[in-house]
Amino acid sequence: MTDDSSSLSVNPARQIRRCALLVLAAGALLVLDLQLFSRAFAQPLIALGSRIEAENGRERLIFDLTGPVKISARPLTDPDRIIVDIADLEFRLDPSAGRNTANSKLIKAFRFGLFAPGRSRIIVDLAQPAAVTATRLIPVKDGSRLIIELAPTDAASFTAAAIAEAARAPDTRPTLSSPPSPPRPSDKAVIVIDPGHGGVDTGALGKHGEQEKAIVFEFARVLQEKIEAEGLFHAVLTREEDIFLPLAERVRRARENNAALFLSIHADTLAAPNVEGATVYTLSARASDAEAARIAEKENLADQAAGLEGKAEAEEVDDILFELTRRETHAYSRDFSKTLISKWKDAGNLNKNPSRSAGFVVLKAHDVPSILLELGYLSSEKDLTRLTSPQWREQAALKLTEAIRVFFQTHPSANSSGAGGRAKEQRPE
Ligand SMILES: [Zn+2]
Repeated sequence: MTDDSSSLSVNPARQIRRCALLVLAAGALLVLDLQLFSRAFAQPLIALGSRIEAENGRERLIFDLTGPVKISARPLTDPDRIIVDIADLEFRLDPSAGRNTANSKLIKAFRFGLFAPGRSRIIVDLAQPAAVTATRLIPVKDGSRLIIELAPTDAASFTAAAIAEAARAPDTRPTLSSPPSPPRPSDKAVIVIDPGHGGVDTGALGKHGEQEKAIVFEFARVLQEKIEAEGLFHAVLTREEDIFLPLAERVRRARENNAALFLSIHADTLAAPNVEGATVYTLSARASDAEAARIAEKENLADQAAGLEGKAEAEEVDDILFELTRRETHAYSRDFSKTLISKWKDAGNLNKNPSRSAGFVVLKAHDVPSILLELGYLSSEKDLTRLTSPQWREQAALKLTEAIRVFFQTHPSANSSGAGGRAKEQRPE
């Protein structure tokens, strides 16, 4: 018989310690669970309204929020702007709210939206140099009121403040949502589709508040589906959500995916409401015409629109192989542009002059054939009706898919084992 008296012997002190530890561990788990639970179900903070108030030369940009937020504001030059960074805020405002600034002498326009996951931003374009004299958060019934107070200043003081602020807290580039998906082990050529703009950078706006970033994203999604459905190619988007992506990052994602073709999708707006139709742009050092130069300048300002410093620059390498690759890539880009225009005709809305070129930063990958497709003009009622119609989107995406198929049939060496692969070998890195 076993003597189990030892297992029955009780050490009260040890038992109390063990109980206490168990209670502590359970408590910690409960706290952790509650934190995870509250995080998962936390109500996002929302901005529901905005306005500008002027008094004695000072102006207040006011946002009505559902709760308190942490914010920081700083000046930025070239052009003069105020950047307001906010932890995480959803803007349920009329997207054109920031253009109704007729009663302001200091504010030309303001933009708002997601800058990076968990980081929102308000960008105030200044009509004249102005200093942030105060940022206040006032509790009100049903939430908080965010007030950004501005006062006129002189250009020298504004620049000095911007330099001091940059030295104190250098701007951080956005943390990117999802890393570029690595090239898949597949024989299929990769087509990278780049829906322009996103997040805080809305792009062009239509009369009724339609946003370029949303229209081109919808189109890009449908195009991706059509390309994948055809089974010949693999289609990758540069952005999978409504988020800001710097121009250089878009180019990088095309190269990372060893893209056989890069399609940047945009839509424009003009003062002339009767100008309509799609235009296909390729890269050139000198713009083909004044309109192409205007569009390229506008699209190249996308990083600035989101409050990044400096201008997006393309890679410049003085290397003979690099130059050869670049020339060959340009030839492919121009050929694809021709194929696309011939097919797109059937989608029914080509611009009078559908083939143009200019210095688009986003088209500057030297080894990836790239085009920028302006789907149409949000300022044209006809284009707007097409661009927001699911039927048109389907039909146009099918035409574009057909153009891709025909292009690679007639240019077999331009697929991933051709242009992309060949270019990779020659890439001076
Ligand atoms: Zn655009």
